Amino acid sequence: MTQPALDLVIAALERIREKSDRAPCASRTALARLQAAPVAASLREACTSPTERRLQTRNKADLLAAVRERVRTCTKCAHLACSRTQTVFGVGNPDADLMFIGEAPGADEDQQGEPFVGRAGQLLTRILKAMNFAREDVYIANILKCRPDMPAGSFGNRPPTPTEMQTCRPYLVEQINIIQPNVLVALGAVAVEGLLGTRATMRELRGRWHTYNSIPLMITYHPAYLLRNQAPSEKRKVWEDMLQVLERLERPISDRQRNYFL
Ligand code: SF4
Repeated sequence: MTQPALDLVIAALERIREKSDRAPCASRTALARLQAAPVAASLREACTSPTERRLQTRNKADLLAAVRERVRTCTKCAHLACSRTQTVFGVGNPDADLMFIGEAPGADEDQQGEPFVGRAGQLLTRILKAMNFAREDVYIANILKCRPDMPAGSFGNRPPTPTEMQTCRPYLVEQINIIQPNVLVALGAVAVEGLLGTRATMRELRGRWHTYNSIPLMITYHPAYLLRNQAPSEKRKVWEDMLQVLERLERPISDRQRNYFL
């Protein structure tokens, strides 16, 4: 399919989605072709002026807002729709080059409606700062948009089940398709399972490049792991993964940054 034809198909699907309360239907083959097309590159090449770039960002923000609204009222997991305080959609720059994916909201996120705001989230913010990013520069989302429910009277968080992740995953796929980041980072093995359907240990997964729909994907430890394991060697592993991300994004890296946690 040529790029102009592909643009027409995407525009038509978006019009159907805006005007209808039902999602547009397409065959698996058509979806696979659409997903394989280099939409991100063409969008970025086509939008070179600052004005065009602003328009693109606004368009992406509008598209994300429409998905957010569907998530806000979602009851596909009845047990989670009952137990949640609110859904936790995602936060950050709709036109981000870099997107982080976690597993699910915890108690803090459920209360505040924003991903990664608890202790692990604060650590992620510090990692971003060390990379010379602000939270507003990147986009952060989870596989699951509702906090996994806990038995009455118990504390803490539980990981999402495979069924919960499979049910909620289409929303994340929509977010990625709209944002079209240049690099994805999956935080922890559960996020990897939710995104790729791959079960493996972090030792097998982290530290090297994978791909999701032709987008480079780096897998690293969840910040909560670093809160439990404060050894400099573990911090260095995550930092080395982030150095690879910076290199892939062609961001400048100082000698000081290269030597963190050595
Ligand atoms: S977890 Fe996702 S699919 Fe399930 S109810 Fe929440 S928003 Fe809907």
